[in-house]
Amino acid sequence: MDAPSKTGTSPAVAAEQARALELVRGARRFLLVGHVRPDGDCLGSQGALARGLIGLGKQVTILNADKPAPAFDYLTRVLPYHTFAGGELPPHDVVALLDFNELSRTGPMAAAIARAGSKKLVVDHHPFAGTPWWDASYVDVSAAATGVLVWRMLKALGAPLDEVVARAVFTTLVTDTGWFRYSNTDRETFALAGELVALGAEPARLYGALFQRRPMAEPGALARVLARHEYFLGGRLVVVDQPLPEDGAAGLDDGDPVLDILRGVGEVEVVLYLRETEPGSCKLSARSKTRFDVNALARQFGGGGHVKAAGATIAGPLAEVRARVVAAAQRALAAVPPEEAR
Ligand code: 5GP
Ligand code: MN
Repeated sequence: MDAPSKTGTSPAVAAEQARALELVRGARRFLLVGHVRPDGDCLGSQGALARGLIGLGKQVTILNADKPAPAFDYLTRVLPYHTFAGGELPPHDVVALLDFNELSRTGPMAAAIARAGSKKLVVDHHPFAGTPWWDASYVDVSAAATGVLVWRMLKALGAPLDEVVARAVFTTLVTDTGWFRYSNTDRETFALAGELVALGAEPARLYGALFQRRPMAEPGALARVLARHEYFLGGRLVVVDQPLPEDGAAGLDDGDPVLDILRGVGEVEVVLYLRETEPGSCKLSARSKTRFDVNALARQFGGGGHVKAAGATIAGPLAEVRARVVAAAQRALAAVPPEEAR
């Protein structure tokens, strides 16, 4: 085992992780699967693991329910990303499930994965409450990103590490730490970032690729969404919603700028962003600046995530979903005293 987590790895977790590495060492054909609407942690973890395993002589396919966003083209150009088109999965011995721990997070792929006779390996940093359904896992909830765990695995496996691995892992770090701003940013994050830069990850180039090629319609769409914000509990809670765009109007694809701006308000402890993604279905993104647990909130609506960043897909018309989520959040937040951001 390589570096233990900063909270110390328990013997049970260490044994589980050793089993996970054994499973990887003994297998030849890998399928690397992420969650629906794969983000940078998901895509970067897949890319880094693919590159490392290919370097070890393994056969690897990356498969997701949704296409990677164009911002990640520096990864998708050089690594074997594919999009699931239904039917059976390509032949494989091990399916590695990266950056999630509930099979339902793979959306339309879930049934095919459950049916496949392959071994299931979960690599993740989200808290898990249910009964484990996998064959092996490499899990550390203290890791800033799933990419940190992939990096530790690649080191333990003795995989070749090059600038492609470095860019992919760097992508996971900057995505999940908000470019080293969120509270999950720790010493390991910075130490690893330094190692990745030494290996060939170029921070300014990656920043440019990820965040400085936005669509011209985005500022207008952002302004329209932000104009809808509403405060509750004296500003401790802020809520913004986004109906399906009317004909011709551009929607907002990336919710992070909205969440970042609203989180920047001094009084705000919790941000809720509700997007109608199709008629009768809404996506919740919830963020917390304090100890308030948005994962617990998201779980009430069938979702999940981390204490400070969580989400859910909720059935129902936007107005009704918004009313239910806001009521639950107000109730929970009103029950705890106001807290300084930490
Ligand atoms: P976001 O709001 O950026 O979509 O997601 C924030 C966090 O919540 C991420 O860690 C993500 O994996 C998790 N998350 C988002 N949507 C869901 C969901 O529907 N189910 C679960 N379990 N987690 C989610
Ligand atoms: Mn993640």
